Amino acid sequence: MPTSEADRVPGLQAVRFAVVDPATGEAFDEAPDQQPDELDAVVDRAHRAWYGWRADPVARTAALRVAAGAVEAAGDDLARLLTREQGKPLAESYAEVARTAARLRYFADLTPRTRRIVDGRPLRSEIRWRPLGPVAAIVPWNFPLQLAAAKFAPALAAGNTMVLKPSPFTPLATRLLGSILATVLPEDVLTVVTGREPLGARLASHPGIRHVTFTGSVSTGRAVAEAAAASLARVTLELGGNDAAVLLDDVDVDRIADRLFWAAFRNCGQVCMAVKRVYAPARLHAEVVEALAQRAKTVAVGAGLDPDTRLGPVNNVPQLARIEQVTQQALVDGARAAAGGHRLDGPGYFFAPTILTDVPPGTPVVTQEQFGPVLPVLPYQCLDEAVDAANGTGFGLGGSVWGTDLDRAEAVAERLECGTAWVNHHAELSLAQPFAGVKNSGVGVAGGPWGLYGNLRPFVVHRPQEA
Ligand code: NAD
Repeated sequence: MPTSEADRVPGLQAVRFAVVDPATGEAFDEAPDQQPDELDAVVDRAHRAWYGWRADPVARTAALRVAAGAVEAAGDDLARLLTREQGKPLAESYAEVARTAARLRYFADLTPRTRRIVDGRPLRSEIRWRPLGPVAAIVPWNFPLQLAAAKFAPALAAGNTMVLKPSPFTPLATRLLGSILATVLPEDVLTVVTGREPLGARLASHPGIRHVTFTGSVSTGRAVAEAAAASLARVTLELGGNDAAVLLDDVDVDRIADRLFWAAFRNCGQVCMAVKRVYAPARLHAEVVEALAQRAKTVAVGAGLDPDTRLGPVNNVPQLARIEQVTQQALVDGARAAAGGHRLDGPGYFFAPTILTDVPPGTPVVTQEQFGPVLPVLPYQCLDEAVDAANGTGFGLGGSVWGTDLDRAEAVAERLECGTAWVNHHAELSLAQPFAGVKNSGVGVAGGPWGLYGNLRPFVVHRPQEA
């Protein structure tokens, strides 16, 4: 089933780019390198498909439920391809596929509510909701399927059609997903386009697109907002994070160490909401470093397709270089690696899981988003100091507080300047919750009913009560 302009137009298939397996560092397949001028036809078809798709909410619900089942049925193929191009352990890929289907099912059953305005005037006034038109999604390489679904499931449920652009580092599983969904959705309701820049920039500025929903880095988010300003399209930005975990003085280190470790190292630390800094009371600092370092030294690192692997490679060369650079900078600035601190020998983009101690608070591994398997553990003397440090970066995606007295921990969590906070957990999200970063971590609200309304516009009708 065709999914993209390059598939449909003979001749365009000649232009392709290589996709690399990060576990080997070698190209294993190719994807179409679609050119920006192809987008006019793609958006035009998405616009024509919109008239049919928006007309029948009951048919939409049914189609999205069937789509969820189709994703599950293709789970093995999707998960293996995802691991191959992204690097994550196969079990994490299966979880991502399951989450993709779950999002489709969740939004399939969500419908906007018409509301009456009751304000004493002799009118019957109703707020109804209308879809926006063709919308665009641009997503990164860390959770290609799950983040795409977080965008297309609410957009399609709302009655929009979508053009979806995955990262050039991970185009293949998304293309496969697009072809699976094309067998159960009407033609051109969801179109996957793949290619290198400036394809994304052109999509964000395309005059036929009414909403640009983007997940990625802060700097690209700014560029996307500027591009979308050309057509005054609505913009939703889910951007970077530098989440802190604040450990309280009553924390049971043994009890939480596994959970804390995986909150930082899942998907090789390439999670916007990973724990990226730990603040530990000075009295417990050495114990926390030791507990985390012991896990970092013994965790099974390897290719994601190997069933023993718990931690895969970094996804791509620029990301590996960045992780290496911020880690080296920290070591030059006086930090010590209690575990790791370097690339691993051999093929592939592997970086040893790293726990840093004696870290100067101003070094980039603390102040910026390192987005890899590196975790600085910083001591604090008084709690206010830890809360100030946790809030002291330009990010505000998530944060967590860990301790035995849950009420006290929750009171500290209330003080974190972020969109989502946890006690004794991190990065576990509900499909039904609003998802929004503060400061540089994002603009707009995704997730739950807020994600649905973010893809709709209000339409108000007033009429007299009586003829
Ligand atoms: P990135 O910003 O480099 O790329 C994201 C997407 O934008 C890719 O598809 C890329 O091809 C495209 N792109 C690049 N330049 C563009 C341009 N000028 N105009 C339009 N599109 C363009 O991000 P990345 O390296 O792929 O992903 C890592 C980042 O994503 C991290 O900062 C991470 O925190 C963030 N992220 C955020 C969330 C969240 O929900 N807040 C979730 C996952 C990842």
